[in-house]
Amino acid sequence: MMEINELETAKENGVFAGVSELGHEQIVFCNDPATGLKAIIGIHNTILGPSLGGTRMWNYANEQEALTDVLRLSRGMTYKAAISGLNLGGGKAVIIGDARTMKTEAFLRRFGKFVESLNGKYVTAEDVNMKTRDMEYISMETKHVTGLSESRGGGGDPSPVTAYGTYLGMKAAAKKAYGSDSLEGKKVAVQGVGQVGMYLTDHLKKEGAEIYITDIDQEKIKDVAARSGASVVDMDDIYDLDVDIYAPCALGATLNDSTIDRLKCRIVAGAANNQLADENVHGKQLKERNIVYAPDFLINAGGLINVYEEYLGNYNRERAYGMAEKIYDTLLDIIESSDKNDITTHDAARRLAEKRISDIGQVKLPR
Ligand code: NAD
Repeated sequence: MMEINELETAKENGVFAGVSELGHEQIVFCNDPATGLKAIIGIHNTILGPSLGGTRMWNYANEQEALTDVLRLSRGMTYKAAISGLNLGGGKAVIIGDARTMKTEAFLRRFGKFVESLNGKYVTAEDVNMKTRDMEYISMETKHVTGLSESRGGGGDPSPVTAYGTYLGMKAAAKKAYGSDSLEGKKVAVQGVGQVGMYLTDHLKKEGAEIYITDIDQEKIKDVAARSGASVVDMDDIYDLDVDIYAPCALGATLNDSTIDRLKCRIVAGAANNQLADENVHGKQLKERNIVYAPDFLINAGGLINVYEEYLGNYNRERAYGMAEKIYDTLLDIIESSDKNDITTHDAARRLAEKRISDIGQVKLPR
């Protein structure tokens, strides 16, 4: 499969080049002048099953930016599903526009109709700026939707399961770095105490970790500090803290040229998507600095596991937690493979995901 940094070059050769060379199967441009809906659905890979991934609504600067986002995000979903042992492919949708003013019932139901037109090849869910209520409107036009409320038979908020998987990933990384997976007394810096970050601090508190938090939102800071007993630090200071573990739970690309040299931690393990600004360059820099990096698409898969449970029917939260527990052993395997093959943990995780897609692809071929 093509590397992300080759995308720019491919784009210069035309839209289709960028799309096909990242390995996508299908891109659907959805346009509805009556409601103002402009959306792009990216179906990256359906070898393991239907492509499942959330819909993100964002005020993109231009359409190219939206396309790039959906290409990157849908490809990430392929790896996330494959490495988590789910029978799902990778897909994602982006809606272009202002979520505060444009999301009418008609707008969302029209989007639902576009999802329905794909006949289950793409299954949607929540993502940035899309809420459970929005999924309910979408579900009026299509059954290919997850992320419904528990009262409607859905899986509800996936964040607690995401936080649990991230916590277990952190413990597996600690086992490698310290020889024990106990986080008692370990200093952990959590960047972003939104839904996932908040639940993560609950686990850390229970285990006796020393917690440091930061966020742009002062209300959240106050609530989570009171709930977890965490110390609050300024936003930019989070990279310079003398801590054992850095947990990015806010934005992507926080592991970059200007941050990696500042880190004093032994472990990076957090829930944010696309943490490495450049998958190749920054993954290697972490390895050279002897920092154990827990690949984001593996340890933050709890949310996807939760919606997969819902997609299978008869949603059961215990089962979702049970599946998320596998993250611990998978990360240990990946660390071992990274050591054995002298590659980054990110590359080891990608190899494992690609191997599963290839193996199961063989099983599915007609004999
Ligand atoms: P959220 O929006 O509830 O929380 C994000 C928090 O980060 C907010 O409190 C926000 O104020 C804060 N923030 C934003 N910019 C910041 C900055 N520069 N410095 C510090 N804090 C900042 O989102 P969430 O659902 O908790 O998800 C957190 C991350 O995990 C996101 O990157 C998301 O894509 C990823 N993720 C979430 C799930 C899930 O189940 N919710 C699943 C997989 C991945």
